[in-house]
Amino acid sequence: MKINSFQFELHLAHEWATAGSAAKKGRVVTFVELNSADGFAGVGESAPSSRYGETLETVVAFLKKVDPQKLSFDDVAASMAYLDRISPNDFAAKAAVNIALLDGAAKQAGQAVYDFLGLGFTENKHVTSYTIGIDTPEKVRQKVLEAASYPMLKCKVGVPQDREIMAALRSVAPTKRLCIDANEGWKTKEAALEKIEWFARDPHIEFVEQPMPAGTSAQDLAWLKQRSPLPLFADESFISAKDAAFCVDCYHGVNVKLIKTGGISGGFEALQAARKAGLKTMIGCMIESSVLITAGAHLAELADYLDIDTNLLITNDPYRGCSAPNGIISFAGAPEPTGLQVRANLLRPA
Ligand SMILES: [Mg+2]
Repeated sequence: MKINSFQFELHLAHEWATAGSAAKKGRVVTFVELNSADGFAGVGESAPSSRYGETLETVVAFLKKVDPQKLSFDDVAASMAYLDRISPNDFAAKAAVNIALLDGAAKQAGQAVYDFLGLGFTENKHVTSYTIGIDTPEKVRQKVLEAASYPMLKCKVGVPQDREIMAALRSVAPTKRLCIDANEGWKTKEAALEKIEWFARDPHIEFVEQPMPAGTSAQDLAWLKQRSPLPLFADESFISAKDAAFCVDCYHGVNVKLIKTGGISGGFEALQAARKAGLKTMIGCMIESSVLITAGAHLAELADYLDIDTNLLITNDPYRGCSAPNGIISFAGAPEPTGLQVRANLLRPA
């Protein structure tokens, strides 16, 4: 097996800000390519987040330690066990290798990844929300108008100007399906409850993501869950399958992201663990290209909600994979019939 990795800066159409991160216009991700001796290839992507202790530098350092001879498309589980021996953490870095392994393994089996995993994929069923980042009321209005064809929005809140942001959104999309993501922005349970009760007056808001900091006590989170008029989803509070037990008392659902779980295999486990615990499930993303987004889409059958939209927010996606016409995730026009079903665009560096 040969391994190759390279960095690429994704450019955002609009500046991106949340309650937890300052405005940015671009994001550097790392792609990993694996090539087996018998001619199969796999690609994966890492979009590390400093929120979870990973950076471009830690991803590069991890990948340097990987001996490609220990990776095999014939045994993804053993390959992942090898990566876990290199480091117990580095999940965003492992995600890139895991996605490339499953791409190659599924291609070798002549199947799409979702069939290789035994999940299948139903067309015309899975809708992704389209995310509106924190911005001025004027910019929020402009972004919401640009998102007119998407049936569900996710609005970033958790800042002092929450009410102005919501007023701007509703001035141009008065009844659109919506969820809100506070990104840990409300610091006390009383402040969180007050905000949630205010948002709940809007009958088209379906749930609230990560209202309070992940470090909040289970007691306070459970207090909020018991009183919240809207379902609460954990994002920063939920890393992987092992967190399902904690989240049962504190949340109604969880947001599974492949950069937190170490890729598709860990995402599959996390979604199954959450469902088994009675939690609603959602698949989310960071600022990512079509590689990570498409990898998440292969697990769609295990999710109640999808928020896999950031490939739609960038202007120089180096890959093509699943598409999202009118927000409906589809593999119908995917550029490859098997594996991850992604293909490099001309923009991708040689
Ligand atoms: Mg979130």
